[in-house]
Amino acid sequence: MPLDYPAPFLELARELRRLPGVGPRSAERIALWLLSNKDARPAALSAALASAPAAVHPCRRCGFFATGDLCEICAQPSRSGREICVVEHATDILPLERTGTFGGVYHALGGRLAPLDHIGPDQLRIEPLVARVREEAPCEIILALSADVEGEATTNYLREILAPLGVPLTRIAHGLPAGGGLEHADQITLQRALSGRRPAGERQPG
Ligand SMILES: [Zn+2]
Repeated sequence: MPLDYPAPFLELARELRRLPGVGPRSAERIALWLLSNKDARPAALSAALASAPAAVHPCRRCGFFATGDLCEICAQPSRSGREICVVEHATDILPLERTGTFGGVYHALGGRLAPLDHIGPDQLRIEPLVARVREEAPCEIILALSADVEGEATTNYLREILAPLGVPLTRIAHGLPAGGGLEHADQITLQRALSGRRPAGERQPG
């Protein structure tokens, strides 16, 4: 058999390779670093890996990351009864929050309608959104989905479902790059998109 690294090393590299964006070369490099660099803290890394998945889960109300029943945003009494900003993913919430222009609450759908990938309304947190709107009676619902075809389809679908509930419905203005998610937009673009929102019944210009 040709010479190779010892089995525990290969096992470590194999696990690292399963991480997103890590190819075989990087996996080997990281494994080497973990085993030989004096700044590596494999025990601390291992402890964090073991504890985080059990400690962090989606907020019962909005889907953002939480350690308790509700996330830090939903737990703030001053935010209740205000706007609900609907986003695709929980990871869209922090960029919007960092703009500092929004004082309401969020609702992450867990994706968007994508019939080709068999993602329909039942696969998204749309029912819980309708239930929330009925229960919380927000002053406005802001649809902040991406500007591509699937995002548009999801916005249109939500508009039809939510309009009968009688809450003012707006959508963010899209200075956002077509095909780009909120996650990657810069802060100024997001700020403008939020403050330039308009009634969700209107067509996007252009
Ligand atoms: Zn929450």
